[in-house]
Amino acid sequence: MIEKKPLKKSRTKRSELCEIDNNHVWHPFTRMLEWDSSEKLIIEKALGNYLIDTEGNKYLDATSSLWVTVHGHRRAEIDKAVRAQLGRVAHSTLLGLGGVSSIELARELIKVTPKGLGRIFFSDNGSTAVEAALKIAYHFQQTRGKKKAKKLRFIAFTGAYHGDTVGAMSVGEIDKFVARYNQLIFKAERAPYPYCYRCPVKSTYPGCRLKCLDRLEAILKRNPDSIAAVIIEPLVQGAAGMITSPPGFLKGVARLAKRYRALLIADEVATGFGRTGTLFACEAENVVPDILCVAKGLTGGYLPLAATITNERIYKSFLGTKKDPDAFYHGHTYTGNPLGCEAARANLEIFQREGTIKKIQPLVELLAELLAPLAHLEHVGDIRQRGLMAGVEIVMEKNSKKSYPSSMRTGERICKEAENYGVLTRPLMDTIVILPPLSIKKTELRRIVTAIKKSIITITEGRA
Ligand SMILES: *Cc1c(COP(=O)(O)O)cnc(C)c1O
Repeated sequence: MIEKKPLKKSRTKRSELCEIDNNHVWHPFTRMLEWDSSEKLIIEKALGNYLIDTEGNKYLDATSSLWVTVHGHRRAEIDKAVRAQLGRVAHSTLLGLGGVSSIELARELIKVTPKGLGRIFFSDNGSTAVEAALKIAYHFQQTRGKKKAKKLRFIAFTGAYHGDTVGAMSVGEIDKFVARYNQLIFKAERAPYPYCYRCPVKSTYPGCRLKCLDRLEAILKRNPDSIAAVIIEPLVQGAAGMITSPPGFLKGVARLAKRYRALLIADEVATGFGRTGTLFACEAENVVPDILCVAKGLTGGYLPLAATITNERIYKSFLGTKKDPDAFYHGHTYTGNPLGCEAARANLEIFQREGTIKKIQPLVELLAELLAPLAHLEHVGDIRQRGLMAGVEIVMEKNSKKSYPSSMRTGERICKEAENYGVLTRPLMDTIVILPPLSIKKTELRRIVTAIKKSIITITEGRA
C-alpha cells in the first residue's frame, strides 16, 4: 500500500535551488568542475517506484536510489513506524543504555540472518559496517593465543568495493581514485573475482571448474597463519559493474577460508534484503559467514543504519577474563538509532507479511526475458543478472570486447538519454545498472528495459 497525500509545490524555486547547489553542495564521486545543477534533475518527492522532480516530472527509480529502496518510496507501513517512533524518541545512545527499538530489531534480524549469526553490532552505513568487521576480525585473531597473533592480513578480491573509509578502501580495488591514498591504506592480498566475461585466468565456465579459486588457495597457502579474514561481496560485486559469480564460487571461497582458518566476511551491503533473489546472497550457496555486513536495504531505503553481525565464537573472544576484561573499543554516535531501527523492523515485517522473496521470482524471470534480446545489439558485450540486480556492459567492439575510451562517457550518456523516457539509472563505467525496487511492477520493468534498450541504440548506433 502506498500512501497518497496531496503533493505540495516546491519550497524554493528551481532556479534558486540550482544556484545554491552549484555554490555550496559538494556532490559525492563527482567531478565538480563539470557539475552544473541546471542540467540535473532536482528530486523533491517520490511515490511508489517513482521519483518526482521539482517540475513535477515522474521518473522510474531503476536504481533504487542507489540500491537502497526495497518496497518502494513512501510505504505507508514504514512511514507509520518512523512517525510513531518520533512520538517516542528520535535518538538515544547505546553507549551505556539499552534501546527498545534496537533490541526489537535485533530479535527480528537474528530470525532471518544465516544460522549461527547471533550478535549484532549496529552502525550507520555500509563503510562503517565493513570497518567494524575488519577491526573485529583483526582483534579476534589476536585473542587466539601467541601462535595466531600473526594472522593479521586480509584477502580481498579484484574489483571489490567495500566503502570509502580508510579500512574499507584498503580492501577495495586499488584503481586510479584510490591510488592517491596509497600511503594511507594498508596493503591487502588480492585474489581474482570471477569476472567471467573477462576471465582473470583466461578460461571458460563451467569447463574451468573454477580455476580462479586456485589463486585464492595459493595465497592462503603462501601465508600460513597470517590471514585474518577473506572479505567478499557474495554472488554479485556491485560497484565493479554487477559482476555475477558462477555457481559454486562462493561456496568454494567459504570452504578455503575454513580450511586455512581465516574468517569469512560477507559484505552484503548491496546484495542483502532480497536483491539477488534470496533474502541474503549467502543463502543461495548455503554459506554461513563468520561476519555479515548489511546496510543499504536494511531500512527499506529510508534511513542510514547498518549492522555487523557475528557468531558467538567471535563475540566471546572479546570478553576477556574477569581479571583482564577486553572490549571492542569502537562505536559511532548514532549507533542503533531508533528511527532507523523502526524503519528496518517495518521493512522486515513487509518481507514476511507479503512474502516478498516469493513474490519477486516471476519478476526475476521477466527481467531475464526482457534483457535477453539486448545481447543482439551491436555494442552490448555482456548481460549479467542475479535476482533483481543486473548490468548491461557496453563495448566498442564486440569481438575484441574492447571498451570505449572512458573520456567518451558512453554509460553516462546512455543513462542521460534514458531520462527522456522517464527512467532514472546510474552507470558503473560503461555498465548500465538495472536494480529496481523489489516492488517494481511488470509493466514498469518492461518500461525500464525498453528505455535502456532505446537509449543504448541511440547513443551507440546513432539512431533512435
Ligand atoms: C555501497 C557499498 C558499501 C558502502 O556503503 P556506504 O553506505 O556507501 O558506506 C560497502 N560495500 C558494498 C558491497 C556496497 O555496495
